[in-house]
Amino acid sequence: MTKTISINPATDEKISEYDRITSTEALEIIAASKKEFHLWKQKTFEERAKLMYALADVLDANKEEYAQLATREMGKVIGQARKEVEKCAWICRYYAEHTSTLLANETVKTEAVKSYVTFQPIGVILAVMPWNFPFYQAIRFAAPSLMAGNTGVLKHASNVQGCAFAIEDAFIKAGFPKGVFTNLNVDSKDVKTLIEDKNIAAITLTGSDAAGRSIASIAGQNLKKTVMELGGSDAYIVLDDVDLEKATDLATLGRLQNNGQTCIAAKRFIVHDAIYDDFVALFTKKMKAAKMGDPTSADSYYGPMARLDLRDELHQQVQKTIQQGGRLVLGGTIPEGKGAYYPASILVDLKPGMEAFDNELFGPVASVIRAKDDAHAVELANNSQFGLGSGVFTKDIQRGEKLALQLEAGSSFVNKLVVSDPRLPFGGIKNSGYGRELAAYGIREFVNTKTIWID
Ligand code: NAP
Repeated sequence: MTKTISINPATDEKISEYDRITSTEALEIIAASKKEFHLWKQKTFEERAKLMYALADVLDANKEEYAQLATREMGKVIGQARKEVEKCAWICRYYAEHTSTLLANETVKTEAVKSYVTFQPIGVILAVMPWNFPFYQAIRFAAPSLMAGNTGVLKHASNVQGCAFAIEDAFIKAGFPKGVFTNLNVDSKDVKTLIEDKNIAAITLTGSDAAGRSIASIAGQNLKKTVMELGGSDAYIVLDDVDLEKATDLATLGRLQNNGQTCIAAKRFIVHDAIYDDFVALFTKKMKAAKMGDPTSADSYYGPMARLDLRDELHQQVQKTIQQGGRLVLGGTIPEGKGAYYPASILVDLKPGMEAFDNELFGPVASVIRAKDDAHAVELANNSQFGLGSGVFTKDIQRGEKLALQLEAGSSFVNKLVVSDPRLPFGGIKNSGYGRELAAYGIREFVNTKTIWID
């Protein structure tokens, strides 16, 4: 029997190992989930909401344990891990409270005696999720899907199976019937067999665009709906009228939170010519001052990356960018000692065609690009295969809004780092994926939007 192994990226020590299940075993669990679906879909919103509120309470009650587990398995600093669990509880409560409104029947006036649109669950949803927010990613999918009346099976990232089983256990503790939410510790090679199974109704993936291409093409062959939440290389435009202290504080946080491994993190800073040198100087000072260290310590601003292979891949991208003419002004060397640490790094004077401009750097490395004026800044921001989040920093909010509307991305924030919020839709365009999560748009992805006509 093969096993998945959880390794603490701060120490390189093995934490635990978990037995993988075969695809045959996974298909049996999916069949049981399908059976449970026929009971679960008949429950009222109120009955499901009661359990979803209970899940929020379980998350709150076990916050410290879950946060410590996430920090141990993937290295995020403990304060951010606690906030992640709190956010999960918020999402559960949001959908417990609002689903009856979000999925209420919509009457449409026609020549019929009665005509309306109703939203019905579709079956078992397969969620393939990444390690970077091990609790949040799973709950962001599960809370709306289950409240809509679907059941869910989770294929979580191999390095966070401790979190994956803890999430499954939280559903059981909250009183959900067995089979409504189940973790499947399968190999990613077996995902194809699961997608092809008649009991899987639809698939949601949060992960890299490479995984997205593979899963979406298999799902396409089987005519199954997918939602794709993929990578990004979010651009933040820094205009010449900006409050430099505030902009560099946000830039530092944006690039280093979650140890630089957030899909919607600020990755490319496109800075107006007039303040470019001042921005680089102050940003460098602040990135240098941010303390890298033990993620369980409250003193650490950021910790290690999630895995050694990801750290080494990031370092190669930095090296490649330097060879292509990018200028390294901070970091860029692998520290000695244990752990998947990589220092806060800054590459400047980047241009299209360079690795750090064209591709996602999923770690604590910032890319800085010089723009002549507002139009040039927008052109550079949109010169990307990705379109997830984006931002504008300026004192002039009208000018900021004007540019925000021109950015090719699923969201554009002015004077704030992009964050997800259950009240607002979240997702991307271009190679960042398609479909939406959260808010009314997210819960309507995996329902049958059904027309009823009575004559
Ligand atoms: P990843 O390698 O694509 O893995 C994500 C999940 O997909 C894991 O469960 C992985 O399983 C599985 N997987 C990988 N390749 C697969 C394949 N060919 N077929 C089926 N399953 C496959 O991504 P990651 O390195 O964990 O996460 C980082 C990426 O996710 C970044 O690009 C980031 O921007 C993106 N992301 C996007 C969002 C968003 O909301 N848009 C949020 C967070 C992260 P194993 O672990 O077993 O390989």
